[in-house]
Amino acid sequence: MDLKIVLLGPPGCGKGTQAERLVAEMKFTKISTGDLLREGVRQGTPLGLKAKEYMEAGKLVPDELVIGLIKEKLAVTHGPVLLDGFPRSLEQARSLDGLTGIDLAVDIQVNEDKLVHRIVMRRSCKSCGAVYHLEFSPPKHAGICDKCGGELYQRSDDTEHTVRARLNTYKDQTLPVSQYYKEKGILRVVDGEGTIAQVYERITAAIRKG
Ligand code: AMP
Repeated sequence: MDLKIVLLGPPGCGKGTQAERLVAEMKFTKISTGDLLREGVRQGTPLGLKAKEYMEAGKLVPDELVIGLIKEKLAVTHGPVLLDGFPRSLEQARSLDGLTGIDLAVDIQVNEDKLVHRIVMRRSCKSCGAVYHLEFSPPKHAGICDKCGGELYQRSDDTEHTVRARLNTYKDQTLPVSQYYKEKGILRVVDGEGTIAQVYERITAAIRKG
């Protein structure tokens, strides 16, 4: 059966980086609401225009918009699926249950003091979305993506001020989602500290165990 997995955890916990690797090595199809919303903002779509102000304020984009986006994507996605950054509220988690069955929720946990540093040092590729950290995993050539040669930039919501707002949003609205999956018996908490490879090992071990 094709697995459907949700990746949870605070901003900066490494969800995006780990998701990239799970896609490359375990053949998951990733659906990232953050990537889809940023694409909408870049292209100036009606959804992007609505989402922009919430994203820049570090708040959640309204549930109905994001749920609509996920519904569209799930309808055209086949095989194992990895949801990155969704669900982020109880309302979204309940709606997702109405759309498809979730096998496992992997919650990547990192100490809060480390998150801000990780995020403000983050640089992302404009073309392929790959993520770098200026200190821990810098690109080989400054400002250029190792994977596709695209231009690296700092996301407009990766500033210290917005990061704090995003962490508060996470605590208020997204933490209850972990509890929701815990009660269903499908939550697996993974230590997100250490190297990218160590965290990846922990995640794949949790997936293999089920
Ligand atoms: P991310 O790339 O996952 O860190 O998401 C960046 C921003 O996009 C978040 O801070 C939210 O403003 C918005 N966003 C992403 N996913 C969701 C979601 N599931 N629900 C609401 N807003 C979201």
